[in-house]
Amino acid sequence: MRCIGTLGSLFATIALALTAHAQADPGLQSEVLAPGLAMLVGRGGNIAVVHGADGSLLVDDQYAPATPQIRAAVAALGGAEIRFVLNTHWHGDHTGGNENLGKAGAVIVAHANVHKRLSEDQWNPLRQTTTKASPPAALPVVTFEDGLRFHLNGHVIDVVHVDPAHTDGDAIVIFRGANVIHLGDTYFNGLYPYIDVASGGSIDGMIAAADRALALTDAKTRIIPGHGPLSNAAELRSYRDMLATIRSAIQQQIDAGRSVDDVVAARPTRDFDPKWGGGFLSPEVFTRIVYTSLTGSR
Ligand SMILES: [Zn+2]
Repeated sequence: MRCIGTLGSLFATIALALTAHAQADPGLQSEVLAPGLAMLVGRGGNIAVVHGADGSLLVDDQYAPATPQIRAAVAALGGAEIRFVLNTHWHGDHTGGNENLGKAGAVIVAHANVHKRLSEDQWNPLRQTTTKASPPAALPVVTFEDGLRFHLNGHVIDVVHVDPAHTDGDAIVIFRGANVIHLGDTYFNGLYPYIDVASGGSIDGMIAAADRALALTDAKTRIIPGHGPLSNAAELRSYRDMLATIRSAIQQQIDAGRSVDDVVAARPTRDFDPKWGGGFLSPEVFTRIVYTSLTGSR
C-alpha cells in the first residue's frame, strides 16, 4: 500500500498550483482564426467561438466570473447571442460559465460522462478533494456518446469523443472548412498535462488522443490546446513524442520493480523539463501522475 500521505500532499500541491493558475487574471484576448471563428484566451481553458447571424457557439466557458468578459468578447467579434455551449470535458476551468449561460438560454452540449460527473459530487482520492455537483442550469441539455455535428454560420463543426484520455468524457472539435481543431485538455501546449486518473483519464489515452488528432492535421492546421498558446501539427507531434518517451521510461522503471519515489529520483522526464516543466505541473508531479496511471495505484 502506497503512502496516502505522500500522495495527499502531492495533490494538495497540484490543487495549490491550479488555484494559483486560476487566480492570475490576464484578461481575455481574442484571436481571429477564420471568418466567424476565433479563439479566446484568458483564465481557465482556451475557448473557441463560432459567431454570426445564426447565433454563437462557445467551445468551453472558463470560470463563472469570466462570463461578462466572454460575452463582451463575443459581441466585439460581431457575434449574436450565445446559443450553444460545448464542453470539452467536465472540469471547472472549462465549464464554470455553464450556469450563467444556461440560465440565459444557451443549450449546453457535452459527452454523456460530462453530464454524469457534473450531476454528482466528484471525490478525487488522489487530490483528497470533493467537487460539488453543479446546479441544474449548469448541466448539459444535449449529450452524445460518440459525437455530433453542428451546422452553424456556414461552418461544419464535428464534435468527436475520444477514448478516455484527460478524463472519460473528452471531446475534440473539428472546424472542417477552417482547418482548425480544438483539443480540450487532451493537449497542453508547452507544459506537462494534468491527467485526471480519478475521472478515468490515462497516459495511454492521452497518447492515443494525440495520435487521433494528428491524423486530422496537415501542415496548415491550427490547433487550439486546452491550455497554452495556439499551436500546430509539428508542436502537437513533439508533445505526443514527449508523452510516449516519458511513458516508456517510467514503464521500464515499473517493470524493474521501482517504487514511485525511486522513479521520481531517477528523473525520467529530465530531458524534457526545460521545454515542458515550467508550467503548473512540476516534473515530479507529472512523473507521479504517469506512474499512478500506469500502475493503477492510489
Ligand atoms: Zn481539464
